[in-house]
Amino acid sequence: MRIVLLGAPGSGKGTQAALMVERLGLPHISTGVLLREAVDKGTELGLKAKAIMNRGELVPDEVMLGMIEDRLSQDDVSSGFILDGYPRNPAQAKALDEVLERLGTPIDEAIQIDIDTELVIARIANRAKEEGRTDDTEEVVRNRMRVYEEQTAPVIDHYAGGGLLVRVLGVGSIEEVLERILSALKVNQAPG
Ligand code: AMP
Repeated sequence: MRIVLLGAPGSGKGTQAALMVERLGLPHISTGVLLREAVDKGTELGLKAKAIMNRGELVPDEVMLGMIEDRLSQDDVSSGFILDGYPRNPAQAKALDEVLERLGTPIDEAIQIDIDTELVIARIANRAKEEGRTDDTEEVVRNRMRVYEEQTAPVIDHYAGGGLLVRVLGVGSIEEVLERILSALKVNQAPG
């Protein structure tokens, strides 16, 4: 199963992706993680991306496309994947469709985790403390929210138009949200 996970920064997308990986046995592809690895390794791409990420803006589409094409060509994604953090704008969504069409492996479902903005800002501030992320200061968070609203939210329409979108409420416990996602995907749920 090939799944795209959508949601605002702090919607719990990364947490849910990690749990879905366990429950569904699919690899997790997170462009944020791939970028942070490149930053930590100090690669040329990482050096360029770091400043952009620290402003809460989007790394250029062509850089991201190269990264995602490379990841999707690896053997472990043959049975599917959970894509988290990509696509981030309609152009990326279109590029992803084209890559997957070429590979003959289209997206099966897009899950949108819906959440309230105030809750998101509180969650992100908390995560910044726990993980020591340098792109989680209040100013950067506000910019990331703005970038999300302006550029990423339209991706929801891309998948809705293709009939692939399922919306899930992101409030409640982590387990409650996970069960909503799994039932939306019509896969086995925890007993009880
Ligand atoms: P994330 O961990 O998904 O919140 O991503 C952290 C940061 O990495 C974002 O704020 C962007 O600067 C960058 N990033 C991650 N994924 C993408 C993408 N698909 N396109 C552009 N920039 C991205």
